[in-house]
Order: sequence, then structure tokens, then C-alpha cells
Amino acid sequence: MTRPILALTELVPGVYAWRRASNGGIAVYGARDGGRGLLLVDTGADDRAIEGLQEWIEHFDAAEVSVINTHDHRDHTWGNAALAARGARLLAPPAGAEPGHRWETWLNGLQVECIALPGHSPDSRAVIVRGVAFAGDAVYTPDILRRMAVPAFLDVERALASLDALEAWLTRGEAAPVPPSERWLVAGHGQPLRGSEAAGAVAATRAALEAALEALAEVMGPPSYGPAPAPDEEQVLEWLRVTGMSAQHLSSMNFWRRVAAGYAAELARRRDVGVP
Ligand SMILES: [Zn+2]
Repeated sequence: MTRPILALTELVPGVYAWRRASNGGIAVYGARDGGRGLLLVDTGADDRAIEGLQEWIEHFDAAEVSVINTHDHRDHTWGNAALAARGARLLAPPAGAEPGHRWETWLNGLQVECIALPGHSPDSRAVIVRGVAFAGDAVYTPDILRRMAVPAFLDVERALASLDALEAWLTRGEAAPVPPSERWLVAGHGQPLRGSEAAGAVAATRAALEAALEALAEVMGPPSYGPAPAPDEEQVLEWLRVTGMSAQHLSSMNFWRRVAAGYAAELARRRDVGVP
């Protein structure tokens, strides 16, 4: 392969990240029959990504291939069906688990651990292999937040609890086979980050979320009696404008309307429980 479709970056021995419209990962392990097994974390957003993964499956001469997803959004699962049709096994961690819920499976000698990180979607999770956490859209790197200031969360309360759970994994001693300074975070988009920079992405996502909440509170004005209203069309547009969201994001207004409703629900929840 002179010039692979997907350029791999080896983060730790045998665990690679690749970047295209969305990020993905490949972990190599010893398969049962003495050959090599490949775990694919997410399968890209387009047909070229599928071809790129197929190239690596051939390059590694994989005797078995498994696929696991950070969440079921089509820009991360595009190749699932095509790869399954070619014999890949789809791993299915539980969906709808509470933030921080752990699940693990073993592929021969490779431990695959998942931490539930709902908020962006109910099934969002970190997929962790050898100290590398592929966390999908549960967290946003600073380079992405510069272009997209509002973290795309539909359930903001859960997203915050999920950020806590991810931060705990990145920073606490006992949770991984390597010290925190050597743990990697690969978000669904943006650069892979290690150690304190990885923890910094969690902090940056939390700060962006709080700033977006504040901006929405200002757009919606003081609360009145009765159930919290969802922001109307004009308020959603104004919110995206004041947070500097680009026209690219305005093209998926249906989605951002739902995000705005999620943030409004969090504002209402904080007012109800008296959180300042
Ligand atoms: Zn997503």
C-alpha cells in the first residue's frame, strides 16, 4: 500500500487512530488461530472510509475482524453493514446505560472496555483499548470547539455526568493499565490528545457547554411562571448567531433545534432545583 486511504497514527503499540470526516481506530491483537485479529472502532462517514478499512484488513491479513461503535450515528457507522457483509462481527455494548456504566468484553487477549457517556445520544460511549479511549461525540477537542462553540448535546444533564465519568477515567490512578499521563483520548472529530491535554478537552467541553447555556439564558430572557418553554425558531437562530456557529451548522437546523431544546431543559432544571 503506497498511499493508504486512511493514514494510521500509532498511539500505543497496536492501537491506531485515523482521521477523515470522522475519526476511527484500529486495534490489532492475536487471534485464536495464531493469526491476527482487528478491532475497528467506528467505520467512517463515507464509502472511501470503507475502502480504507478494507485496505488495512488486507494489509494486516486479519483472520477475524470485529466492529464496535462509539455511538449509532451514521457518520460513525457508515461502513458497519458493508464490513459485516464481509464477515466482520458487530459488537453491541448496552445502549441507554447511565453515565459511567462499565461494560467489557475480551477478544482473545485484548480487553475492550466501554464507559457509557450518554448525552450526545443515548448510546454514546467511550471504547477503551490499551489505555486509548475513543469517545465519539461525547467530548469535543479545542480545535473543534473553535469552529463549533456549542457542544452537540441533546441531554445536557447526562452529558455533564458523562464528562465527569470520562474525566475520572482520564485522571484517576486505578482505572487503566497505564498512568494518566499516557492515556489517550480520541474524540469523534479533531485531534487525538494525551494526558493533561486529553483532560483539557473535557474541561473545554464543559466550559463551552456552560457558556452556551448562559448565552441561551440571555436569548430566552427571564423565566416566567408555568412549564419551561422550548426556544422558538428565532431564539434558536439568535442563540447560534451569538455563539458564533457557522452557516455549515445552520444547514442542519432540525438537529440544532433539538440541541437548543436540550439546553433549555437544563436551564429549567437548574432554576427548579435552585442551582445558581
Ligand atoms: Zn454523533
